[in-house]
Amino acid sequence: MRAPDPTHRFDTLKQGLEAAGFVILDAISAGKRTDIAVGSAGDAFWNAVSTAREWVEGYEDPIDRYTARVINSLLIAEQGEEAIYPFDADAPNFVRLWPATFPKLAPSQLGPMIHPEYGLWMAARAHVILPQAFFKFEQSPKFSPCESCEAKPCLHACPVGAFSASKPYDYLACAAHLKTNPACFSGGCDARGACPYGQSWQLPKDQAKYHQSRFRTAFDD
Ligand code: SF4
Ligand code: SF4
Repeated sequence: MRAPDPTHRFDTLKQGLEAAGFVILDAISAGKRTDIAVGSAGDAFWNAVSTAREWVEGYEDPIDRYTARVINSLLIAEQGEEAIYPFDADAPNFVRLWPATFPKLAPSQLGPMIHPEYGLWMAARAHVILPQAFFKFEQSPKFSPCESCEAKPCLHACPVGAFSASKPYDYLACAAHLKTNPACFSGGCDARGACPYGQSWQLPKDQAKYHQSRFRTAFDD
């Protein structure tokens, strides 16, 4: 029996992920494995998830359930392919793991990861591991934009100073502000929007509204 063509396998998986609205944020091959950072960004993911059965039938955590169902269905578990999800009970901290693993992902001044194309407008969905190396990948130079970003406009855009260089994200100040000024998040957070990276990937309005309502509900008394 011929061994499966590993390059073809990667391409097939990529096509399946993209057809379901996901994006490959980065991928590396080393030794006998390939690690793939699977994320979401923009309309494609939102359109896919908001019409999926998990959403339409009102499941709890529809985005996580959709993600796990689709990605698990695309992987060949018998061949050792696996996925780690950020919502797994024993999940590693992706904000630490991914910048240490993938050259295109970096921690940002605001806290979430930043990517050269998607900026702050993407989310981590799964860390996929394939038990084969794909030598067609070329290692990208390490992306690390915040150190050289002198103006740091993201730190000055929030009207209530929820972000600053001297303290962690003040989510309580943000939540309190959003109760009376929901427009601050109507196209996504203004502080994120101030970053020059990924401007064309700002959240679709429906998605921003959904995340804002979940965030506000979490802080309702
Ligand atoms: S505005 Fe500058 S410091 Fe802030 S996240 Fe973007 S690159 Fe980093
Ligand atoms: S949504 Fe508005 S209040 Fe909240 S952190 Fe972003 S800019 Fe600040």
